[in-house]
Amino acid sequence: MNWIEKELEFLADASLERSLRTSSPVSEAPGYTVREERRLFNLSSNDYLGLSGHPAIIEAMREKLLTEGAGSGASRLVTGNRPPYHRLEEELAYWQNYEAALVFANGYMANSGVIAALVGRGDVVFSDQWNHASIVDGISLSRAEHARYRHKDMPHLRALLHKYRDKRRKLIVTDAVFSMDGDQAPLRELVALKREYGAMLMVDEAHSGGIYGKHGEGLCHELAIQNDVDIHMGTFSKSFGVYGAYICGSRTLIRWLVNKARPLIYSTALPPAVVAGVSEALVVVQGEHWRREKLFALSMLFRSLLGASGFTIGEGDSPIVPLIIGDNDMALRFSGALEDEGIAAAAIRPPTVPDGTARIRFSLSAAHTEKELRDAAARIRNIGLGLGMVKP
Ligand code: PMP
Repeated sequence: MNWIEKELEFLADASLERSLRTSSPVSEAPGYTVREERRLFNLSSNDYLGLSGHPAIIEAMREKLLTEGAGSGASRLVTGNRPPYHRLEEELAYWQNYEAALVFANGYMANSGVIAALVGRGDVVFSDQWNHASIVDGISLSRAEHARYRHKDMPHLRALLHKYRDKRRKLIVTDAVFSMDGDQAPLRELVALKREYGAMLMVDEAHSGGIYGKHGEGLCHELAIQNDVDIHMGTFSKSFGVYGAYICGSRTLIRWLVNKARPLIYSTALPPAVVAGVSEALVVVQGEHWRREKLFALSMLFRSLLGASGFTIGEGDSPIVPLIIGDNDMALRFSGALEDEGIAAAAIRPPTVPDGTARIRFSLSAAHTEKELRDAAARIRNIGLGLGMVKP
């Protein structure tokens, strides 16, 4: 086993070693986290709508915990398919305007399981080069050909669709909002290409669900293209503030997945209390519009403050705001300086992002206030000045 230590040293030397640190929530201040007894302004969570501490969601979970117990005890196909699942799946399908929905334990399992259930040897998956790792792993598991197209490059995708036009099944898959850059996929163009080449289209709304769309349905609804999306995937771990994921599609698709999606078949069902909490979160996501409005206003403010300071930040309007640094070590130093200044924001390095694009990934929440973000932006500017990244 000596090789592991050598490999770890190699990672550490390249400023690429990762380690686990404990972060605790602050119940009276949802926009903060506590690390090593220090309270930090949390700019590194995916709790975009600030729902993880929502009293109605917590109460729904507590109630179900008392009646249904702690765990589900088995996979959904055995005896783990407790009553809260049925209600949630009906509500999800109605919300998304699809025939049916299927809940998975998490987004990683949904993506990897669904892709491997839909394609196999002799098939091809066209996937944006910056799609989430769970999509990439699903393609590897499926044994289908992986046709990776350059980020959002539609002429490149078209050339690949042409090259692989004789493959048996074709699946185009994309994140709706990319997790590390916060930019949007060209969904309308993807729909046109899917039609032209007779491919299936799968969209991962992990970072857009709850945020875009009149009732938080996601970007596909906002752009009114959801009827052309064959497989709609979303998560409950981000905007919903809870845990889990779902797929919406036709009844036939869902029937197929119940029979073929291995993470659903061979893994224990979510605890019933989690499923009940998600149902309550769905009510909040649809009803509390002010959270979306506030989030967009905060995002525009924060983006304009960082841009005005001279930082290179990602495009778009999403609450994911990457501050591009480039060098791994510099990104770590920046993140350390942020922590010294009372801000939690992770340095994201390769292989999560491409080489030479290490960054700080800021993510905003409706739990934040304008004043907190203005203060944070001023501190971030000072760090940039100190590290020589921006000019006075
Ligand atoms: N898809 C995307 C785009 C993601 O960012 C993530 C999580 N970071 C996932 C899927 C996986 O979801 P989960 O955390 O529920 O496993």
